[in-house]
Amino acid sequence: MLSFTDRFKTLRGLIGNTPLLAIDLKYKNRDITVYAKAEYYNYTGSIKDRIALHVLERSYALGLIKPGYTIAEATSGNTGISFSALGRFLGHDVHIYIPDWMSKERIAMIEGFGSKVVRVSAEEGGFLGSIRRCEDFASNNPNVFLPRQFSNSLNSEAHELNTAPEILKQLMTGYNVSINGFVAGVGTGGTIMGVSRHLKSIDSTIKVVPVEPAESPTLSTGYKVGRHRIQGISDEFIPALMDLNALDPISAIPDGDAILMAQKLTKELGLAVGISSGANILAAVKLSEQIGSNAVVVTILCDDNKKYLSTDLMKIEPVKQDYLSPSITLLNLRQYR
Ligand code: PMP
Repeated sequence: MLSFTDRFKTLRGLIGNTPLLAIDLKYKNRDITVYAKAEYYNYTGSIKDRIALHVLERSYALGLIKPGYTIAEATSGNTGISFSALGRFLGHDVHIYIPDWMSKERIAMIEGFGSKVVRVSAEEGGFLGSIRRCEDFASNNPNVFLPRQFSNSLNSEAHELNTAPEILKQLMTGYNVSINGFVAGVGTGGTIMGVSRHLKSIDSTIKVVPVEPAESPTLSTGYKVGRHRIQGISDEFIPALMDLNALDPISAIPDGDAILMAQKLTKELGLAVGISSGANILAAVKLSEQIGSNAVVVTILCDDNKKYLSTDLMKIEPVKQDYLSPSITLLNLRQYR
């Protein structure tokens, strides 16, 4: 039987060290290269494997989780998939609390790992209701481990210690460039805050831009507004991990434009990504244009399209006048791992 040490070693080999892609494109007659971490290469196919691994490995070392504990988490999907997979491999039962409007692929995948899924409707409180139900479960049951992704500093630490240094190293050794800007959609804020801490400690002039859906500008307003279709970001409240003062101004991307961009990446480059990846690429193009010629802007392709087969990502999306994606021509794709 594999020991815990061996199991974590296996997981470390399957998570992180993802390819850094260079996407060459034309926007308003300008040549732009956007660099993007292909995070769907991770164990369960999303960036969230990184935090599940770091949180579990560190929490084992600190004695916060022990064999036999149940892992319970509130999530919009990817975190639930990651903790389900890693939890099962380490021998834990997993309970996932999820708003009931998240794609049915997410829920089916979590159930496929043998996790218990609790669906929480908008009337029952949606996202905040999911977090409350999860906390209630833990307070009534001993031996429950709560990763608490929205407030656990190990979440952003995973990106500070792993994602950001990987990006800088790959930019230098693979492409011989150094970074001017980083953009990422905000769910828990773990990615943007962790990467930002590493980048700004090296050079405080590097721009770090959080992305939110234009239809639901929770970060800008501080509370839940409207509905949007970019699953995984803008979950109804500003997470405790977020410190907007440490970042550059927010970039708002319409969800329809994000869908069109994800479809374009799929149809023209074979990069079959999810909706938040489309939003990230658009925000990266905007920041590149703002910084000026030869800007090196990096972003994240958080997951692939397989969790969105039942969503608008697979339908014809109407083009609106202020959208950027119709003015973007994709030219080439390079990779470095
Ligand atoms: N995109 C997708 C598809 C996600 O699942 C998440 C995580 N919720 C994010 C973006 C945002 O990542 P973070 O939680 O680190 O802000």
